[in-house]
Amino acid sequence: MRDSQRPLRQGGFVLAAVASLCAATIGLLCLAAAIPSSAAGSSQEKYEQRRDRMVEQIRRMHSTAPQAAGGSISEAVLEAMGSVPRHLFVPQRARSRAYANRPLPIGHGQTISQPYIVALMTELLQLEPGDKVFELGTGSGYQAAVISRLARSVHTMEIIPELAREAESNLDEADIDNVRVYRGDAYYGLPEEAPFDAIVVTAASDHIPPPLIRQLKPGARMVIPVGRPFLTQQLTLVRKKANGSVDIEHLLPVSFVPLTGGH
Ligand code: SAH
Repeated sequence: MRDSQRPLRQGGFVLAAVASLCAATIGLLCLAAAIPSSAAGSSQEKYEQRRDRMVEQIRRMHSTAPQAAGGSISEAVLEAMGSVPRHLFVPQRARSRAYANRPLPIGHGQTISQPYIVALMTELLQLEPGDKVFELGTGSGYQAAVISRLARSVHTMEIIPELAREAESNLDEADIDNVRVYRGDAYYGLPEEAPFDAIVVTAASDHIPPPLIRQLKPGARMVIPVGRPFLTQQLTLVRKKANGSVDIEHLLPVSFVPLTGGH
């Protein structure tokens, strides 16, 4: 579950939101839906009920999503979302808000993406059970955990070492053993494990990193927010064709923290 890579740098600040669906703003993150912690309790049953409600909300949101976002979120993805204990991937003080459909701060100026965005990005990858997946931007480890339910293995890289360590511990606590966390600048991907059946980028970049395109298998997909940092980006689907060229499709507006590093 651990490995060490290239030099480490400071990260940015994430906010994942579909502009037309959820007008989350950075300022709102910390004010989110206060469920009194006494009422919140901590029983597994309560968390399960909250997960079920979260899944229903994702279903409903997607039914009003722009056409470009695709037909529906598959039952397999919804099941994965319903099975990963998201509360284990947020700081203790935010656990009562873990299942609200919004991003939450995870420290170091970063956030865990909102559940709807995690589900949508996972859906767009069209995963198969044998797939090997690369993620740029481990953060809390939650997106990797969801993907791990639908793929053979996930290799995820985080540039902030403390977050990488916390993600490893979150994944351990959730009993997930097919995710490997690396420290380093994931702009360059992970050549030693490439090629990948799917790549997901969870930090905003103004271009699609060429090393990641190279590390996609022919026929494979990458999902990445492309655009200016701190502004709205376009969630983008990249499909690599058999001849090595790529199809690029901009799907819908989102807002992510910037991709950092020295590239
Ligand atoms: N997938 C995460 C959320 C990602 S937040 C989750 O499920 O919680 C984006 C993350 O990308 C941040 O933790 C940030 O530190 C990281 N990041 C930004 N630039 C990076 C880079 N070049 N290489 C690796 N990680 C990077």
